[in-house]
Amino acid sequence: MTFDRVFDEHPWKSAEAQLNNIGVRDVERALSKVGKLSPFDFLALLSECAKPYLEDMAQLSYSLTRKRFGKTMQLYAPMYLSNECQNICTYCGFRYDNALKRKTLSDEEILAEASEIKRHGFDHILLVTGEAQKTVGMSYFLRALELVRPLFSNISFEVQPLDEEDYRTLSQEGVHSVLVYQETYHEDRYRLHHPKGKKSNFRYRLETPERLGRA
Ligand code: SF4
Repeated sequence: MTFDRVFDEHPWKSAEAQLNNIGVRDVERALSKVGKLSPFDFLALLSECAKPYLEDMAQLSYSLTRKRFGKTMQLYAPMYLSNECQNICTYCGFRYDNALKRKTLSDEEILAEASEIKRHGFDHILLVTGEAQKTVGMSYFLRALELVRPLFSNISFEVQPLDEEDYRTLSQEGVHSVLVYQETYHEDRYRLHHPKGKKSNFRYRLETPERLGRA
């Protein structure tokens, strides 16, 4: 089942109604459950009744993290390639309607910045841009990748959500991971804070991890 179908099965209104019926027992049941929790368990842990159980949740979370990841800690250095952006996100200084000096790194600048990051001992780089298809689209990404690939053993991207085919290309060209944030799952609030630009398409953003997974 695709994630957007799972999402549609849990409308906010019914989640709110369920929240009002949750009791302490539901919280305790969720906390003592072995294995995967259900959406209802998750709701129980978010409810008012769960407040006194915050420390229990923290301990459980700590032990699960240890079990899954051990004591591994990953460090990466973000490198901004461009602050051009066609979107208006109400919380961001890069938004289209903010009178800001715009800059996109040239090949020489990318190499100089990346070499400096490498010199500081980082082997994992995160390439970041705003969303400006014409200036920083796939051809720019591929060029940037070509330049930084010899320097880093791990390359991540934090750029606009892309089509599945583009993700496949990036993966073939050496991108190890992609970061994408779902600022809110509340569609009305999302619309309020993303009034203009391609990012205003809530569904396209919601379906991004799915496209990534397939790629
Ligand atoms: S898309 Fe990203 S860079 Fe552009 S305005 Fe929104 S948060 Fe800022």
